[in-house]
Amino acid sequence: MSKKIMSFMMLMVLVVSFGLVGCGKQEAAKPKVLKVGSEASFAPFEFQEEGSKEYAGFDMDLIKAIGKQMGYEVQIQNMGFDGLIPGIESGTVDVAISAMTITEERSKKIDFSTPYYKSGLTIVVKNDNTTIKSFADLEGKKIAVQLGTTGADEAKKVKNAQIREFNSAPEAFLELKAGGVDAVVNDKPVNDYYIAKAGGKDAKEIGQPLTAEEYGIAVSKKNKELTEKINKALDELKKNGEYDKMYLKWFGKKAQ
Ligand code: GLN
Repeated sequence: MSKKIMSFMMLMVLVVSFGLVGCGKQEAAKPKVLKVGSEASFAPFEFQEEGSKEYAGFDMDLIKAIGKQMGYEVQIQNMGFDGLIPGIESGTVDVAISAMTITEERSKKIDFSTPYYKSGLTIVVKNDNTTIKSFADLEGKKIAVQLGTTGADEAKKVKNAQIREFNSAPEAFLELKAGGVDAVVNDKPVNDYYIAKAGGKDAKEIGQPLTAEEYGIAVSKKNKELTEKINKALDELKKNGEYDKMYLKWFGKKAQ
């Protein structure tokens, strides 16, 4: 074999092996993707800040931190709240984080992570309303709620009340402002945020929380391994102080 051919062959071997090494590296560096569903108009848990396409909020920070901990790249899909569980069942998304209360009914369809937030329902009425001071006073009143939520379930138990269901909490608040309903029944932390940020001019929040609820991350029943990984990551974030930092950032107080 001539020297020329020999060196050409050696060069080829080098090129091919470098190529292979390169491929291997690329494969290893490509992060796994976690497809996350959320109904992103529920501040301060998930929302888009004005003029921004990015999703912000406590849930968003938490799921990104969980993804990082597990070595996953997190991709958020904004969808209707009542579409989240079907989305997990059909595999459109892997998980849902959306201030979703852990309930028995939902647990029949999907698994929940360990609880990550303690919540409950309160009422919002107009500033000048003097008749509604507690849940008992909602009897016979017009109530706005968000479709498919625990707030909607509780409102439906009120005697003779007329329930108006909206796709999002902001739409329910708008209806209250417009005078179409007497009250909104919704999650306390979201009502707190609404009153503090925008609604305080014309609305107020009343009543001790009616329910004791806990939020969980929803995962397919077919993916026990993913639920375990999420629980482990959540636990680590609670231990290393990151969870506390996020809580303080979004709620202005120490985690409960
Ligand atoms: N926590 C309530 C529920 O799970 C509301 C959630 C929401 O509107 N994002 O039904």
